[in-house]
Amino acid sequence: MTALRPEIAQTRQSDAGVDRQGPGLAGLHESIAALLASRGQWCQAYQHLRFALDLVQAGQEEEPHVPEQLRREVDRLRREHAEAREQSLRDSLTDSYNRRYLDQRLMDLLTEHGACRHGLAIALIDLDWFKQVNDSFGHLLGDRVLQRVVELLQQDLPEHAFCARYGGEEFVLVLPRVDSATAVEIAEAARERVERHPWQEIAPGLRVTVSAGLAYEPPADEAPERPAVGAEQQLLRADSLLYTAKQSGRNAVAYRADGRVRLAGAASGRRAIAEPRAAGYY
Ligand code: GH3
Ligand code: MG
Ligand code: MG
Repeated sequence: MTALRPEIAQTRQSDAGVDRQGPGLAGLHESIAALLASRGQWCQAYQHLRFALDLVQAGQEEEPHVPEQLRREVDRLRREHAEAREQSLRDSLTDSYNRRYLDQRLMDLLTEHGACRHGLAIALIDLDWFKQVNDSFGHLLGDRVLQRVVELLQQDLPEHAFCARYGGEEFVLVLPRVDSATAVEIAEAARERVERHPWQEIAPGLRVTVSAGLAYEPPADEAPERPAVGAEQQLLRADSLLYTAKQSGRNAVAYRADGRVRLAGAASGRRAIAEPRAAGYY
């Protein structure tokens, strides 16, 4: 398909009148072919590619008016393609992003050396005593709780930030381009929103809280002496801090500042803060 592109592009350029009215007939056939090929419908893609090639090779003047039906077909295919791609990156229960999206975005956010250009905070969030919620209120209500928790976690996130389901009842907030203090504030605000939500309106006696481990990596140029950390290692650090939050009484955000592990906000006054599991901190 790529071999055809220069010829088709040339035809388009040579016909400024067609450009003003949108892509010509050959261009539309090529667009349909590309969309069909991306869906693995090779035979139909080939046919459209042949139409495009025939039009170009015959040196045929492109019709200034492209049949409306063809335009609609291209629009429909483009829409379906975009929707299918979006769906493949979403978790079906909670509609948050899924692990595949998380992995892709983390790769994009880190440079090839594993360092982050703008600073990156990752909060690993786990529902507290969620097995008991299922046991007491049923799995279906548990599912509703997960959906509501995602809505609460996603509220008021800054630009570029997103929430993804890591697996089971664990979620990740990815917060690029924020400083460490802001990351703590965002994670603590999310934790508090979950705690304060009127859960008893869903089921009398229901109470839901979350714990979080927040791992922050500063921008590469702010700490050049610091060895670059890959996404996997940063997630491990977040997991280790999540363990601390759980061991320190749950319903808390654990993070590291000035070499010490701390709990954010209301939990900061708790006396016993458990040691995190080793995860390559220095
Ligand atoms: P902790 O505070 O230590 O995290 O306790 P916990 O009970 O939340 O942890 P545990 O790992 O023992 O249990 C997690 C539960 O989450 C068990 C599993 O059935 C439930 N779970 C995982 N995915 C789903 C889901 O999609 N829907 C529902 N309803 N439950 C789920
Ligand atoms: Mg868990
Ligand atoms: Mg849990």
